[in-house]
Amino acid sequence: MSTALQTYTTAPVMVTSERENSLAAEDLRARIRGSVKLWEPMSKHTTFHIGGPADIFVQPRDADDLAAVLDFAARKGLPAKVIGNGSNLLVSDDGVRGLVVKLAPAFREVEWHPRGVEAGAGVTLQRLVKESAAAGLSGLESTVGIPGTLGGALATNAGTDTGSIGDLVDRAVVLDARGEVCEWCCDHFAYRYRHSNLRGTGAIVLSARLHLRPAPPEEIRAKIKRLRAKRAARQPLRAWSAGSVFKNPRGVAAGKVLDRAGAKGLRVGDAQVSRSHANFFINRGRATAAQMMELIERTHGLALRRYGIDLELEIEIL
Ligand SMILES: Cc1cc2nc3c(=O)[nH]c(=O)nc-3n(C[C@H](O)[C@H](O)[C@H](O)COP(=O)(O)OP(=O)(O)OC[C@H]3O[C@@H](n4cnc5c(N)ncnc54)[C@H](O)[C@@H]3O)c2cc1C
Repeated sequence: MSTALQTYTTAPVMVTSERENSLAAEDLRARIRGSVKLWEPMSKHTTFHIGGPADIFVQPRDADDLAAVLDFAARKGLPAKVIGNGSNLLVSDDGVRGLVVKLAPAFREVEWHPRGVEAGAGVTLQRLVKESAAAGLSGLESTVGIPGTLGGALATNAGTDTGSIGDLVDRAVVLDARGEVCEWCCDHFAYRYRHSNLRGTGAIVLSARLHLRPAPPEEIRAKIKRLRAKRAARQPLRAWSAGSVFKNPRGVAAGKVLDRAGAKGLRVGDAQVSRSHANFFINRGRATAAQMMELIERTHGLALRRYGIDLELEIEIL
């Protein structure tokens, strides 16, 4: 695998036995108010609809629950991965060892202010975009059609060529790697194209305040409508995907490179490069992560051989 493809792959972790996992889940259930499930299929929690079981799948009820979960994981030596809506993830067929922590359905409070919004990390961008029009606050329109949560969007600096979420952040309440709740001001964040310094620090966003600009609701709605139509005309939005698989290399769209390299329609089992957008790979129904990975390797190789472009993954592989 090339260096670029390895960017977001996670290192192998300790494997625990079924009995150890059952005992750990039982122990955790007694400590938190949220839900704890064993061997939950990750295909239920990713927009690719791909992924084997998470050893222990947790949905904390609130920030105290979340802190207790992370403290538990640290003391047991179990890895813990926080997810939002799973719309930027390709999860292995073997699943995820340790804990997967899904913030939704908690962390969904939204409070509108005259010049912005304070929202929980589990709130979907689509809810925020819709409500921003009603509130007469502009700025979130560029995220229309991105099926992630605010927490996931902040971690990936989600956005389009018209703007990214990082441009809007005033401050965020974060649970840091030491388990302490603290506030990060906007200058604490380092954002670049589809990347934020949240990644790799172990910090988890609990909520964030975004600054927005007052504008007439009808103007905002018109912009949302225009951007939604533009997206629908170019992307296979009804298909199971994780959006763009590769980041755009400098100066050119990855989709264009792949299209010219002849990738559209390429298929490995039920994993296929969309015929309408060469950077969207879709699960036609029963694709496995292994098939999707093979398709990624093949298309990456095509771009490298034809144009010398070493495409970097935008999706994260778990
Ligand atoms: C049809 C489609 C279209 C898309 N279009 C776009 C687009 O135009 N632009 C774009 O940027 N993306 C796009 N995406 C990709 C995806 O929606 C975004 O990356 C989104 O922001 C991911 O959010 P999520 O909640 O699904 O995060 P997940 O996929 O669940 O997680 C992504 C990363 O964020 C981390 N994370 C999640 N929550 C938190 C938190 N609270 N604190 C810290 N880290 C956290 C996770 O650990 C993981 O590393 C598209 C996806 C689809 C399916």
